Amino acid sequence: MIPYGKQSISQDDIDAVTDVLKSDFLTQGPVVPDFEKSVAQYCGAEFAIATNSATSALHIACMSLGVNKYSLVWTSAISFVASANCALYCGASVDFVDVDPETINITPKTLAEKLRHAKANGHALPDVVITVHMAGQSCDMEAIFKLSIEYDFSVIEDASHAIGGRYQGHPVGSCLFSDVTIFSFHPVKIVTSAEGGMALTNSPEIAKSMSLYRSHGVTKDLALMQKSEGPWHYDQVVLGFNYRMTELQAALGLSQMRNLAQFVNNRTAIASGYQHALSGISASLPKTEPFSDPSWHLYILRLDNKKMDRLEAFNRLREKGLGVNVHYRPIYLNSYYQKLGFKAGLCPVAEDYFSRCISIPLFHEMTEESQDKVIKLVKEVCE
Ligand SMILES: *Cc1c(COP(=O)(O)O)cnc(C)c1O
Repeated sequence: MIPYGKQSISQDDIDAVTDVLKSDFLTQGPVVPDFEKSVAQYCGAEFAIATNSATSALHIACMSLGVNKYSLVWTSAISFVASANCALYCGASVDFVDVDPETINITPKTLAEKLRHAKANGHALPDVVITVHMAGQSCDMEAIFKLSIEYDFSVIEDASHAIGGRYQGHPVGSCLFSDVTIFSFHPVKIVTSAEGGMALTNSPEIAKSMSLYRSHGVTKDLALMQKSEGPWHYDQVVLGFNYRMTELQAALGLSQMRNLAQFVNNRTAIASGYQHALSGISASLPKTEPFSDPSWHLYILRLDNKKMDRLEAFNRLREKGLGVNVHYRPIYLNSYYQKLGFKAGLCPVAEDYFSRCISIPLFHEMTEESQDKVIKLVKEVCE
């Protein structure tokens, strides 16, 4: 089976992890800060807080932006469930913004429509909007940032798919047009630390708050404590969590960062091979916006479902050895969200997309032969 995604682990990665195993620190040593520095520098952001997952990073980002049981958080209808669950962890309400049919991202248009509609009908406006850079292509963040000023909400970029991508030439993660950007280092993403995530920001206050929430809410910073009883003394000042990344994970992630440019170049080349070879099949290919250089986390076809049933195409491709997948079902169609009262029909474009989408294999170590095989099989099934 050719998988839809797969990590690449070099001998240098393995050596970096074994070096940590032989060192004095398995956690809370020097490598986590080095990894944070490396990602912050790559992205041109001031601060980076490593966590044990992107899900944890989303949670502490919401906490640090003041999300609580009175808050409303909006996110994209099409994403992994973590993009919405983080708001529910804080006791907040969530709602979903429909996506653009071509990029499957929230756009200034789809977001502005929902904002205007909410305002005109006296409904609550969001305190935080979490944009999702679907498949590694950035949303139009400058325009979304302008809306955030007009309607007074904070912005988190869920860039779990998008490390190494660019927006208007700036690395995703620069936080030029957001309060916080989140990366995931799960093995199917662009760079891996096994499990792991990171939250980037240019705000010293948000950074300080996120690092408190990451580690039990405990501090030795005298400025935050009531008084120090002595050098041993730490103080818990908020209710935090243990969301820390280990040194082993950070060593893997730091070593992987050295290959990031290569990873993204290679993914871009594979994607452009697909764009050429697959034009003309009964499916729409991904559309790249002029402002964006995607990291190509996923390559998603949208089948023409008048000609082609998705389930049938999926089963036929799987039978032939392609590990195709579906990203994603609209979050609110999951049972848990249905029980919260969300109804089918909320985001028609997202639901139509979901009925037609299929992700085909794309990963760094994909050989030319396997790509040719994918192209041949997809053409057979979708022509
Ligand atoms: C993978 C993913 C997450 C969660 O990442 P973890 O590191 O597994 O917690 C969140 N949002 C999106 C869009 C993702 O793809």
